[in-house]
Amino acid sequence: MTTAGHTARDRLRQQLTHARDRSPYYRRLLGGGSGRGTAAELTELPLTTAADVAAAGPLGLTAVEPARIARYAESRDHRGRPLGAAATMGDLRRTTAAMAAALRPHVGPADLAFVAVPYELSGGAQDTDRALTALGAGVVGVGALSPVCPPERTADLVAALRPGVLATTPDRALAIHARLADAGAVPRALGQRIHLHLGGECAPVRAARTAELWGAVAIRAYGSTLTPAAGLPCVAGTAHLTTALYHAEVIDPDGSDPVPEGACGELVLTTLAAEATPLLRYRTGDLVRLTRCGCGDPRPALEQHGRVEDRWRGATGPARTAVALEQAALAVHGTGLHCATGWSAGRPTAVLDEADADTRRDVARALHALTGATWHVAAADRGAFLAAAARAGRRRLRPGDLEET
Ligand SMILES: [Zn+2]
Repeated sequence: MTTAGHTARDRLRQQLTHARDRSPYYRRLLGGGSGRGTAAELTELPLTTAADVAAAGPLGLTAVEPARIARYAESRDHRGRPLGAAATMGDLRRTTAAMAAALRPHVGPADLAFVAVPYELSGGAQDTDRALTALGAGVVGVGALSPVCPPERTADLVAALRPGVLATTPDRALAIHARLADAGAVPRALGQRIHLHLGGECAPVRAARTAELWGAVAIRAYGSTLTPAAGLPCVAGTAHLTTALYHAEVIDPDGSDPVPEGACGELVLTTLAAEATPLLRYRTGDLVRLTRCGCGDPRPALEQHGRVEDRWRGATGPARTAVALEQAALAVHGTGLHCATGWSAGRPTAVLDEADADTRRDVARALHALTGATWHVAAADRGAFLAAAARAGRRRLRPGDLEET
């Protein structure tokens, strides 16, 4: 075995022991003891679900004494349940170091960066903020939810301060762009270089088109408050699994068996170096495909396919991810920036912005080729998409959201 293999195995063994001995949740579930700490043993352990974390309470998984907690934050699952996660100073340092190393090819001391994701109770904005600061960049923490800095103030500040880097979701980047364009500004002339997409999984074609509107390049990270810095961008901007901090499995989202190598499935993460909140086989609810990236980094790339609950199922054939449907639709020439898919009025429906009759026909063909179903393809105003996205918050848009305007 290679040195790296030894290191990963040692980390896994230590993390299993730490969780069993120190985390109240895992001690109750698994009992104490060291075990063998191998990947094979790991797959015999039960999966940890969001419901388990929510039921355990804010510090139910916390494996350190309260005095060692440097930060407490929460994620929320798709039902709105809070999922608590504490971090020690060591945890924060490891996350910051991993993020800073990944961002170094993209961001430097001369950059001004806006962080436009929620700061409240969340780890992601603060982790990103610290990594950017560690790289010497200037940081403006506009957040995303505070009435102190509503979207119109963020847009005004982008125009005034001209950040080269914007850390946000694709939807929020589009919303800021629309506000500036409506006010007569030329967003492409504002000097944005890098869009770091944090959350808001979307099709690659949509991410690229959104960044291109600004004259910027899109790079991707993946993670949550429970699993910070789980995927970080390489030099090519693709998110790779952070193998120093996480062991990954990909399983059937409707069961618990592993999917064939290279197939899309639910990402299950085990922390390898978490002091405060060790997680063993945590079901993320996120769909991914582990792929190889052309950049030469041997760590698996995380092709993100959105949430398990956002899959589309036809009468026959396998479920399709919302991202796969979006990619098939928006890869059609003549499409714009938005695509909402789902069932509406009893039929498979896609709603697009900026699509004439020929484009809608071509999109229906592309979706038929992917799914075997007959799709109704409609168009809605781009403003309707922006308003619907603002109302929906983190939830993915469905065709019905466009009909409520
Ligand atoms: Zn890469």
